[in-house]
Amino acid sequence: MVPDRSAEFTAEFARVRPSSPLKPTRSTRDAIVLRRAPFSETSQVVDLLTPDDGRLSVLARGSYRDKSTFGGPLDVLTRGVADVQRRRRSELDLLHGFQITQPWRGLRRELTTWLGANHALELIRAFAWPRDREPALFDALAGVLDLLDRARERFEIEAYLTSFAGRVLGIAGFVPVLDACVRCGNDVRSARRGWLSLAQGGLLCGSCSTPDRTAIVCSDGVIRLLRRALGGARDDADTPAWTEAVVTEARRAIDLYVEYRLERPLLSRRLLDRTERTPSREPVA
Ligand SMILES: [Zn+2]
Repeated sequence: MVPDRSAEFTAEFARVRPSSPLKPTRSTRDAIVLRRAPFSETSQVVDLLTPDDGRLSVLARGSYRDKSTFGGPLDVLTRGVADVQRRRRSELDLLHGFQITQPWRGLRRELTTWLGANHALELIRAFAWPRDREPALFDALAGVLDLLDRARERFEIEAYLTSFAGRVLGIAGFVPVLDACVRCGNDVRSARRGWLSLAQGGLLCGSCSTPDRTAIVCSDGVIRLLRRALGGARDDADTPAWTEAVVTEARRAIDLYVEYRLERPLLSRRLLDRTERTPSREPVA
């Protein structure tokens, strides 16, 4: 339970500027640390994701000092109550305090989990805009980090990331067309395989796939998983057993789709792929 300290800080602000006609610019909010960098020998610049203000860049003055109010330098992949003072004439707001409510220690136990969590951060950084209210993105990130924190198997990590990437694409409005061929409109729901066109933003049927150099061939299982992750058809009745290989392939297809939309590679995707083990043959779902 996050303690609500807003009244306390509003009172504090009122003491500082008792007759100010301006709205209070200092308040506490739930936040997740997305990135941090040294600003000087004693301070950090930190990127926060917040539900109501999107991404905020804040200066944590003195966070490296032994006796700082932060209790030590801020770290990525922690959630807390941030005491932020907004500044009208600067892109950089001031952070006065950060009380950790969720340290997500489980993310730090294994390399694969850590890379998976950083992959989630890279996706969020790509789609969360500065100072833009989008509580759904905050909830999606907090949710996937809670799941990854408890994940033990590679399969779980890949499945959570696939579902998370699908959710982010849905919120950002970039969901690919998966039920009909994006070029000719033919129904492709019963096809044994399909081609996901990065350029055209959806599946292609066999006859339309040839001229498209950006098309990735996807098995039936991968397409079903993509539909599930992207909130499309709920074909629970005949859901095939998803293997680790299918889940990893689906996550990769979504990542390539994201990279095409962003027009740049996702560094974390490459790092994660390097840690891939031999795919399991066991059906796990
Ligand atoms: Zn077609």
